[in-house]
Amino acid sequence: MRSIEELKRDVLAAIDRRREEIIAIGHNIWKNPEPGYKELKTAALSEKVLKELGLSPKTGYSITGLRADLKCGDGPTVAILGEMDSLILPTHPEADPKTGAVHSCGHHTMITAMLGTAMGLVDAKASDELCGTVAFVGCPAEECIELEYRSKLIADGKIKALGGKASLIFDGVFDDVDMSIMQHATSGGYHSYDHNGFCMKSVTFHGVSTHAAGPGGSQNALSAANLALHALALLREKFCTDNSTRMHGILTSGGDTVNIIPDTAKLEYQLRAFDMNRVKALSEAFDQAMKGCASALGCTCTIESIAGYYPLINNDAMCKLYADAVHKLYPEAEVDVEHKLTCGSTDIGDLCAIMPVMQGSCPGAQGGGHTVNFKIVDDEKAFIDNTKINALMVIDLLYGNAELGKSIAAEKKNCMSVAKYKEFMSSFNYVG
Ligand SMILES: [Zn+2]
Ligand SMILES: [Zn+2]
Repeated sequence: MRSIEELKRDVLAAIDRRREEIIAIGHNIWKNPEPGYKELKTAALSEKVLKELGLSPKTGYSITGLRADLKCGDGPTVAILGEMDSLILPTHPEADPKTGAVHSCGHHTMITAMLGTAMGLVDAKASDELCGTVAFVGCPAEECIELEYRSKLIADGKIKALGGKASLIFDGVFDDVDMSIMQHATSGGYHSYDHNGFCMKSVTFHGVSTHAAGPGGSQNALSAANLALHALALLREKFCTDNSTRMHGILTSGGDTVNIIPDTAKLEYQLRAFDMNRVKALSEAFDQAMKGCASALGCTCTIESIAGYYPLINNDAMCKLYADAVHKLYPEAEVDVEHKLTCGSTDIGDLCAIMPVMQGSCPGAQGGGHTVNFKIVDDEKAFIDNTKINALMVIDLLYGNAELGKSIAAEKKNCMSVAKYKEFMSSFNYVG
């Protein structure tokens, strides 16, 4: 039996032997960007790679999700996550000319690192010394975009939630998983930040149209939406007691022609906070403001409320493992795992509701995420190091009798059950 250090050496060497192949996969996915729930090519490529390693991926979870298990005895189950979806940013110089899709959040590096981790562990026969299961989970749709398209998929029963990981939870993909790991691409350094949760609102104001030059009998839906925007601006005062709360939105429809008083106007809003109960309070205040403003001008409104993502709080013990893994590669590196809060959101938060999770970061990108400047400039860091950090963490968690993995898995008792999570998040879904 190899010592833990010998096993790490062998797995890192196995990853290095696959270097060109791993980077080629990353480039391939960068050149074939697919937005959430449309990651068909990415999922097919991932399935092929996992099958070639002798694993048996199950596919088709929430359209493009997949999972393959490397069984290494009777111990905890660790999920290595690989996000697959792109953004849509047509002005990015490398956006797909037809769809505008581009990996300007770098998720192609994460699915690539997940596949590379499977290669390294299988090639080095790590299962001989590990105790547990490594579940490689290809995750659709982390970015919360194309709300209308996804609402239709939900209505058609093809997905269960806006976010891919939430939808996979509803599919039962994570029922037997004890903890989850992933490193997000970044143009910054090594860090593990906590994230806000949120819910989505889609509001339609209904009024009565007339000729705009004869508005006597009208009920102007655009005016109601206008009043509602003011109400939301004033409502911020009530929620300014912490600086992580966010309420932001857009007017998506304000009438069709200039000479008709609009009988329909639409708003789309995202309400974020670090605590889902606070998101619920925001949601209730939001609904009250919409109804009040509609009624003040003789209109009505329909509010479609949809669960977003649960807040992410990274697990301390796993953060330490992440820092250890980074330091194994770069002993001098600064690793920030101090629970700093970014006000953005990620659907790994939904996993954090039901199990210990850790989302670290992995450098190698340049430019801000979600901007036209974002690109990978260091393949070694973005693809190979990310792969190695995953693999080193798995080894620390499951080596020998999986002592560390078992102690972290025991923290699952502090999380919600899957059933409770489903019930709680479903309470955000309603039309009123
Ligand atoms: Zn993003
Ligand atoms: Zn992202």
